[in-house]
Amino acid sequence: MLKIFTGLVSAAFILASPALAEEAQHRQLGPHVHGQGTLDIAVEGKKIEMELVAPGMDIVGFEHVASTDEQKAAVEKAKAKLTDVLSVFKLPAVAKCKAETSNVENRKEVHHDGDEDHDEDEKEGHAQHSEFHATYTITCEAPENVTGLETIYFANFAGAQLLNVNVTTSKGQTQAQMTRDKPKLDLTGVM
Ligand SMILES: [Zn+2]
Repeated sequence: MLKIFTGLVSAAFILASPALAEEAQHRQLGPHVHGQGTLDIAVEGKKIEMELVAPGMDIVGFEHVASTDEQKAAVEKAKAKLTDVLSVFKLPAVAKCKAETSNVENRKEVHHDGDEDHDEDEKEGHAQHSEFHATYTITCEAPENVTGLETIYFANFAGAQLLNVNVTTSKGQTQAQMTRDKPKLDLTGVM
């Protein structure tokens, strides 16, 4: 069983081609897809920078501006969970990592796909998207021991199905996916 599982994890790991990287950039500029977020990880020496972008639908189940007390509380609760980066994205203890900075924002996403754009934005719940943007700085005493990443993101946020993960290190760029069924990444040899 273990061997099969390891094989699947490796198969999901694809070295990025320039075309794929370009596609990823285009995807970030266009409308987001509900259920799908992105996690960018940049490693430089002992420093790891992470950026998470996720549709509001994935995190709190709505994307309009929070108006009720319940909705406002849901946004604040989600921000608090996302702020604690090493709880959401667990790195191996032997890498001795600690979070230095965390910043989580809930941003309105505006699309310019027609003249009626501004009118559309005024209408409640129509043509309106919002995203959670989180940026983190982490330092690890032994970054070479970051051989994997495990997340409780999907357990925490019911609408999230997939994270497209981009990892950039001195060795190059790697793309992979974490999903509700596979909330783990094998980073062996990537650092
Ligand atoms: Zn949306």
